[in-house]
Amino acid sequence: MSFTLWFTGLSGSGKTTLSRGVYLELKCRGIKAELLDGDIIRTNFSQELGFTRRDRDINVRRIGFVSYLLSKNGIVSVVAAIAPYAKTRRQNRQLIGDYIEVFCKCPLSVAEKRDVKGLYARARAGEIPSFTGISDPYEEPQAPELVVNTDRETVEESLMKVLSALEDRDLIPYRDQCNICNYTEEDEFHRRQNLAALGFARNVL
Ligand code: ADP
Repeated sequence: MSFTLWFTGLSGSGKTTLSRGVYLELKCRGIKAELLDGDIIRTNFSQELGFTRRDRDINVRRIGFVSYLLSKNGIVSVVAAIAPYAKTRRQNRQLIGDYIEVFCKCPLSVAEKRDVKGLYARARAGEIPSFTGISDPYEEPQAPELVVNTDRETVEESLMKVLSALEDRDLIPYRDQCNICNYTEEDEFHRRQNLAALGFARNVL
């Protein structure tokens, strides 16, 4: 039995950045892990779904189910998905069992200022309906296992916070207890390129 590490938070709150960082570090420590990025899942797995409450719930539950399958078979599932509704997160927690929720806490004003993908500007212009934080709710986690304040911490600080929390819970070994492998961002990049060549959306690191 393994576990699922779910990064939830507004768009631009740091989910992708931190999930990729943690995922690579786990791989480097020789831990079997998979990264499930909400955007990539939508493109490859949930193409037919939009952003109504029902569709969002289906998407988040699908990610939860895949995470359950992975975790049950000894693979850490690292998820980056907004998962805006508390009820659906709760259902996933029940299904998966070993579920660690990381709340990427960041005021809307900061996430909007970052506007990593230019989506907030489009949402404000009315081009994207039901945009989380603007025209659709984000229900903040009330009891997440971990909170990272990404408006006040550096990426490194937040990453260390997450890894330390996993170490302290004996979910992963300490770095100096591992045979550090040389799995790198480049390896991951090539793996994703191969997927792209087969017609899957690529998750560029
Ligand atoms: P999301 O996946 O939640 O939409 P991203 O990870 O794509 O968010 O973007 C977050 C942005 O915030 C990145 O540009 C990242 O460099 C920046 N950032 C600044 N501080 C942090 C932090 N402590 N943790 C994560 N991201 C941070």
